[in-house]
Amino acid sequence: MSPASELETRLLIDGERVAGEGPREAIINPRTGEPILSVAEASIEQLDAAVAAARSAFKSWSKTSPLQRASALLAIADAIEAEGESLAQRESLNCGKPLHLVRRDEIPAAADVFRFFAGAVRNQYGPVAGEYLPGYTSMVRRDPLGVIGSIAPWNYPLMMAAWKLAPALAAGNTLVFKPSEQTPLTTLALAGLLAERLPRGVVNILTGRGDSIGSPLVAHRGIRMASLTGDITTGQKVLQAAVRTVKRTHLELGGKAPVIVLNDADLQQVVEGIRTYGYYNAGQDCTAACQVFAEQGIHDQLVSALADAVSSLRYGQDDDSRNELGPLISERQRNSVASFVERALEQDHIEAVCGGAIPARPGFYYQPTLLVGARHDDEITQREVFGPVVSITRCEDASQALDWANDSEYGLASSVWTRDIGKAMALSSQLQYGSTWINSHFMLPSEMPHGGVKRSGYGKDLSVYSLDDYSAVRHIMVRH
Ligand code: NAD
Repeated sequence: MSPASELETRLLIDGERVAGEGPREAIINPRTGEPILSVAEASIEQLDAAVAAARSAFKSWSKTSPLQRASALLAIADAIEAEGESLAQRESLNCGKPLHLVRRDEIPAAADVFRFFAGAVRNQYGPVAGEYLPGYTSMVRRDPLGVIGSIAPWNYPLMMAAWKLAPALAAGNTLVFKPSEQTPLTTLALAGLLAERLPRGVVNILTGRGDSIGSPLVAHRGIRMASLTGDITTGQKVLQAAVRTVKRTHLELGGKAPVIVLNDADLQQVVEGIRTYGYYNAGQDCTAACQVFAEQGIHDQLVSALADAVSSLRYGQDDDSRNELGPLISERQRNSVASFVERALEQDHIEAVCGGAIPARPGFYYQPTLLVGARHDDEITQREVFGPVVSITRCEDASQALDWANDSEYGLASSVWTRDIGKAMALSSQLQYGSTWINSHFMLPSEMPHGGVKRSGYGKDLSVYSLDDYSAVRHIMVRH
């Protein structure tokens, strides 16, 4: 890994790397709690300059052909792969993720998203042109919107950048993009790769906090659409800020994924699935398999097998290649996870069968935790913890599991585990969640939509639906 002094901290505005002119934000290494370096955030004048650059670049970028935009996206995908090792090291340093998992999972996924949208934009389809009124020919166009203000969270900084940049660029928009103030390092490195492969001003990258840069970005008159992946409360603020200028919004908010396990499920498969996808990225994942509803015939066996499996999760080892999860992103997040668990354990009916505490070691680690006995309306079952904590709730039958799973403000992801495909299909058709996996969890191919219903937000990431979200449908009518 390059020394901290060599890490890129400059913004990207109108094709130029410039130092932020706002206050400095310390970037903390979550494995140690020590600062890595500090990054200066953008000033309001720099925000105005970035929006002006994106508006100016829109005039020509919006007129490029799908082939031209696809070529740029393919070049970006190649560059992400070529620089994969250095990007992975930055992501691992900034977020505390095990390096081998970033290399294996996140770098290829980020490159693939650019490749997918390069192909998708060349293959768009829609209603047929024709004479829907006698003497007139109608046709439908899909056109870019203008400048998109995009705001990303800290859990998968590079991947979230790819999810937001690729469809918006493919559709012909230009962007002002803000990574989380806690995790800007990979985005600032990516900015260099983008600047070399896109005309100036097409993508502008600004650092800064939500209040100082995020909120003015959303409210800016030069922005046509605001796209946020973040917390529900942040989504509400974005909506409020978008009201005055009647902007489009695209909100990927939190999640609390129910995992319905029926009596006939393959126990080993369920245990492996929850061990992996309940704790991946230390549970800082909006689709984490964190809320298990187990039918009574399998509940006790599942608790016992899962307790063993979760206790074997490896973290905080000196040999990082053995780690399966890292620390939480910050002390604040770790303390928030700890207080959720403390409040849960204050209730007599909830027991921690493993974990349940902050380990005595440096960094923002939290023990992988399995809570048993939670009721469906307990706080731990209802609220997003965003940490390595899974709760199990015993259900009488599939119908009760379905009712409890749907009795939630969230609606992002869910899964059903059973050998009976009929039951799986019946349940998946009734689950009020943006996605349902059957005998699996967390798989996100670039071709398939990812996004929520209910308070988990609206708008899709990935897939052609995302391309639709970043463009406007227009009707052109010609009188003969
Ligand atoms: P957060 O809402 O605190 O921050 C997200 C981003 O919003 C950051 O860049 C932040 O600076 C910015 N922000 C904060 N206040 C703002 C404001 N008033 N105006 C504009 N921007 C503002 O979220 P986080 O803590 O970084 O990420 C965790 C959350 O993200 C979790 O709730 C998680 O479920 C959600 N998430 C959702 C998805 C999804 O696909 N649905 C994916 C990943 C994360």
